[in-house]
Amino acid sequence: MIEYLKNILFKIFNFTVQENKSTMRKHIILFGPPGSGKGTQAKKLEAKYGLVQISTGDLFRYEMGNDTPLGLKAKEYMAKGQLVPDEVTIGMLQNKVDASPDAKGFIFDGFPRTIPQAEALDRLLSDKEEAVAKLIALEVEDNEIVTRLLERGKTSGRADDSNEEVIRNRIDVYKKETAPVYDFYETAGKSKAINGIGSIEDIFGRLSEEIESI
Ligand code: AMP
Repeated sequence: MIEYLKNILFKIFNFTVQENKSTMRKHIILFGPPGSGKGTQAKKLEAKYGLVQISTGDLFRYEMGNDTPLGLKAKEYMAKGQLVPDEVTIGMLQNKVDASPDAKGFIFDGFPRTIPQAEALDRLLSDKEEAVAKLIALEVEDNEIVTRLLERGKTSGRADDSNEEVIRNRIDVYKKETAPVYDFYETAGKSKAINGIGSIEDIFGRLSEEIESI
């Protein structure tokens, strides 16, 4: 009789764990310096896994393109390669998350970029009884970034991609303000760095492996 009950309990427990695994939303932070390929890879991951990409850079550019008050505020910081203030960025991010309640999960691209942003993200997800599943960092060295961004600047029409001084400033800001976010999630055992050099398909393969291992 006891064996029988144990068996039933075991089955119920296992079923619940499986259910949770399949129904829980997977939220991924795609991390790395500017020009490391986050945007390109996020779009491919979105298509493969049905996740929703949220790029704070794209959101700011959209606002700027429409001359909204938010866009005008962001513009001065972006032009210099500085970060837009946390309260502005966090509010915008929260609106975007709340606008997609049915998403299977999010790929955060370019967010969080500071510790207060990471704390705000954790808070807003935990209010929904959710959490970041993994932070995956694309590693690319400085000179490669400068070359890539100057090349991208020729066609992207982005002022912040066309000026080497602004690009170097973005890299400095990344090292000082953004890199600590890797350690923040590392202490929770959630950070993983992968090689961001190679063909788009190679890097996509490495990223897919990381996502499937969650
Ligand atoms: P990106 O497209 O991610 O390279 O971002 C372009 C610019 O937008 C950055 O250099 C910042 O000025 C601004 N930006 C994007 N995401 C954030 C963020 N999470 N926090 C603050 N500023 C941001």
